[in-house]
Amino acid sequence: MGVPLLDLKAHHEPLHQEIMAALEQTFRSQAFILGPEVCKLEERVATYCQAKYGVGVSSGTDALLLALMALGIGPGDEVITTPYSFFATAGAVARLGAKPVFVDIDPTSYNLDPAKIEHARTSKTKAIIPVHLYGQCAAMGPIMELAKRHNLSVIEDAAQAIGADYRDGRRACSMGTVGCLSFFPSKNLGCLGDGGMAITNDPDLAERMRILRVHGSKPKYYHKLIGGNFRLDTIQAAVLNVKLNYLDQWTKRRQENATHYETLFQQSGLVQTGNVSLPKPVYRNSGVTHYHIYNQFILRVKRRDDLVAYLKQKGVGVEIYYPVPFHLQECFRSLGHKNGDFPESERAANVTIAIPIYPELTTAQQTDVVEAIAAFYR
Ligand SMILES: *Cc1c(COP(=O)(O)O)cnc(C)c1O
Repeated sequence: MGVPLLDLKAHHEPLHQEIMAALEQTFRSQAFILGPEVCKLEERVATYCQAKYGVGVSSGTDALLLALMALGIGPGDEVITTPYSFFATAGAVARLGAKPVFVDIDPTSYNLDPAKIEHARTSKTKAIIPVHLYGQCAAMGPIMELAKRHNLSVIEDAAQAIGADYRDGRRACSMGTVGCLSFFPSKNLGCLGDGGMAITNDPDLAERMRILRVHGSKPKYYHKLIGGNFRLDTIQAAVLNVKLNYLDQWTKRRQENATHYETLFQQSGLVQTGNVSLPKPVYRNSGVTHYHIYNQFILRVKRRDDLVAYLKQKGVGVEIYYPVPFHLQECFRSLGHKNGDFPESERAANVTIAIPIYPELTTAQQTDVVEAIAAFYR
């Protein structure tokens, strides 16, 4: 049997010639750093996200770092974020000498619980980083309201949520001060390596990020700021300019797969016995509105670790995103947290699994996944 968690071969095969032509063209031009291909992608992705400016960068991690640097976040500052995300979210804050201040998640959405933010705010708080985890927007309404009231910047970590709509139809990256995307191959829009983008509606912030992206240099060799090398490769932009044309159709396939899983899991009886709990999207997708773009399809399951071992042995691709919340990570020990500080994040870390949801997944493969899970509980 065997169903991978992600099938990049199946994903890229139909685009083989188109991608090769883009690579060939870049190679012929011998212009590998920034340039028109990157500018074109920046405009297209910003527009796709319903925002004005895009700054192509070397990774999603560097988009977060660059955004925080451009906002002047540093030692003595506090940044409120979730303890339940990919490491880069909190890592970027700590790398700048600022303090990540964690706020627990809402167990239904796996995103920051907005009701708990106010309590974590101090006079040192400078920014909030909501993560749109798994492909669904965090509660941006209440988060933006609180941020405006206290003059805080908001950095949307949209690495898993390109094109996801919030409840009012606004898209990820268009609501906060700046939004950060990743083009890592496993994201909904992935390149052939590392890449990312910072998105904003603020022209001054966009300009500052552009300058910081090239070591703070403007004009060349004159440095008003200390930046880094955060550039997006031209060759990756060329590939992404091809792949972006297909993003909506891939998103649609992911959503159809999610709907089909719901049917299969209901039919299997796994939901009724309580062995498996399905994701509960905060809002339902409709034809024109993508409330959830399913970068991951997450189940809560009984006897999680045994199930994962069983599925791996059966060749079913599963992953635990993420087994250790930030507050329990060794590198953040100095923050002084302990087990029990963020119970919903800890519970999510202990009972969830991600199963295959990629666009090329077939209904037969979905049946295999659900049957393998059912076999484990029999
Ligand atoms: C992938 C990811 C990142 C980092 O992106 P990279 O391109 O891998 O550096 C940051 N935040 C979240 C939530 C992610 O999923």
